[in-house]
Amino acid sequence: MQRMHGFHWLSIVMAPAGLVKAEPILRRVQTRIFAFPANSAGTAACRPHRINLPISRPSPWGTLLLYIFSLAWYALPMEPYELIRSRRKSLALEITPEGCLLVRAPLRLSKARIEAFVAAHDAWIEKHLETQRQRAALRPPPPTEAEIQALKERARAELPGKVAYWSEKMGVAPTGFKVTAARKRYGSCSAKNSLCFSCFLMNCPEKAVELVVVHELCHIREKNHGPGFYALLERYLPDWRERKKLLSMN
Ligand SMILES: [Zn+2]
Repeated sequence: MQRMHGFHWLSIVMAPAGLVKAEPILRRVQTRIFAFPANSAGTAACRPHRINLPISRPSPWGTLLLYIFSLAWYALPMEPYELIRSRRKSLALEITPEGCLLVRAPLRLSKARIEAFVAAHDAWIEKHLETQRQRAALRPPPPTEAEIQALKERARAELPGKVAYWSEKMGVAPTGFKVTAARKRYGSCSAKNSLCFSCFLMNCPEKAVELVVVHELCHIREKNHGPGFYALLERYLPDWRERKKLLSMN
């Protein structure tokens, strides 16, 4: 999907003027098109890789050259992006895990400046979009609703037995049991000692499932991951390090 720069109305108005004595006007156009919002250091910032852009004041001929360039790049194709305005002071580019381009901008910054900023970072955008798209292509497709339901049923059938077995062995008593479709964590233990497991844990080998169960049960005694927690884990699962390697979110 490619989008063209629209002709900036100033470019059209200024075209004939550029052929006569129009240096001051051109300078204003140049500032409008090429100047970036400055932070305290007089540079514009771009995340996650900081790029510093000096704000230059070229000679009249330089200005004219920039003006011609500005007309040229308005005709170039440009990456479509989603614009998010907020109470921020600088412009930032972001590539989402899905391979989309986000531009974060201050509330009242003109569209021309935003477009200039995007155009100035064309190479950076292209490079990172390509990397992200390659990564996305390698990722397996997200599970369907039916697959999630099947995993949840398996978790509800298999996990309570394991929880009961290890609770007795460790001398702890969880107050609740829940299965979710969380993608970021396999398990959790609430302040009230209620356990929660992700159904995607069922995609992991048996030894890894056991590790998550014991890990959450350890949290009944030790709420954080301090030395006490690991001493407890080590006591019940001395091979927890090997088991941990078997865990992967897929
Ligand atoms: Zn933990």
